[in-house]
Amino acid sequence: MPGFEVFGEEEKKEILEVLETGVLFRYEFPEQRRGVYKVRSFEENFARYCGVGYAQAVTSGTAALKVALAALGVGPGDEVITQSFTFVATWEAIFDVGAVPVFVEVDETLNMDPKDLEKKITEKTKAIIPVHMMGGPARIEEIVAIATRYGIPVVEDTAQAAGAKLHGKALGSFGTCGTFSFDAVKTMTTGEGGMVITNDEGLWRTMSEYQDHGHDHVQNPGGRGGEGRRFIGFNYRMMELQGAIGLAQLAKLDGMIAAQKRHKSRLKEAAAKIPGVTFRNVLDEAGENATFFAFFLPDGDRAQAVNQVLRAEGCGAIAFAENTWHYYPKWEHLLGGATLAKSGWPFVSHNKQRVIYDPKVLPASAAIMERLLVFQVPITLSEERLGQICAALAKAAVKA
Ligand SMILES: *Cc1c(COP(=O)(O)O)cnc(C)c1O
Repeated sequence: MPGFEVFGEEEKKEILEVLETGVLFRYEFPEQRRGVYKVRSFEENFARYCGVGYAQAVTSGTAALKVALAALGVGPGDEVITQSFTFVATWEAIFDVGAVPVFVEVDETLNMDPKDLEKKITEKTKAIIPVHMMGGPARIEEIVAIATRYGIPVVEDTAQAAGAKLHGKALGSFGTCGTFSFDAVKTMTTGEGGMVITNDEGLWRTMSEYQDHGHDHVQNPGGRGGEGRRFIGFNYRMMELQGAIGLAQLAKLDGMIAAQKRHKSRLKEAAAKIPGVTFRNVLDEAGENATFFAFFLPDGDRAQAVNQVLRAEGCGAIAFAENTWHYYPKWEHLLGGATLAKSGWPFVSHNKQRVIYDPKVLPASAAIMERLLVFQVPITLSEERLGQICAALAKAAVKA
């Protein structure tokens, strides 16, 4: 599952090239760096890999979401729609630009339900963030069609789906822009890091300036050059060591996905024998990145019974209904409006409650999540461990 499983000589070689110049920074130092621009090269290669015109590297997947929303002009008074099943980072970024997150149901793709999306669009909706959870595509074509009808930009949170495609087109390249994460547990990793891809040159320039305090990079793409700033910015700059690792990891991405697909199909074969089992609706089996294997039991009790057998065999599955990081009713800090700001922001503004989150408002997601069991799919998986998991699934098929 995570790219760190295959760290090797390729990453070391790229890192050494940076250390030999002594320039750890992506901008400036034109003489000392002797033509080495790792972050810029990583951006160019990543854009080419995804089939888009532009890529902007940043410090994390959360920063990528923040930079994308800021560049789209989203701020206080606005609503941004995302889904009930995602990592907390998606809505942290929405709050961080001053907007309010609105949550919609997921369906058996485990991603945004377009029908519920359309119900929740209001005049205040200024962006829609579908998430391609666990490497499988959202119904992105339908979502983009709806968003286009309302004139609302789509930011695809592709943090968990690097290298995945829908009908031959890279996830992250369907919407106005797509964001990626290269954190410790992602399909490809740079330690920490993120990227935004887009075909909109103007949006890309805005992001490039925003993530570097408003410096413009037009006259001199490796440096700053221009004086004067168009707007206030922030610092989300990726450093050269991360760009170096990213280049090596990107070159391995297709191989990592191929290994995961092999492992996933073995797990699926074994799980298929469990009575009543059904599988996640993966819209494009050939295009997904297969970092996770997700299956359903007919109801919550059956899912728990199956997982009990798996756990007893040392092969417990992830039950996202219980996991506190990825599912709406489990985010106690969001539901409770817990914030460090003494004013209560972002839940309270000018002594008035801005928004309250009720854990019971997404029943369709709850009905799906309680039946769901998930295995992470490693890149490197020994025949022994794979055999153990398959045997545990076989045991669940007869015992649970
Ligand atoms: C990991 C993740 C992020 C955030 O990425 P970081 O690089 O850890 O900031 C955002 N969205 C989703 C869906 C993620 O899984």
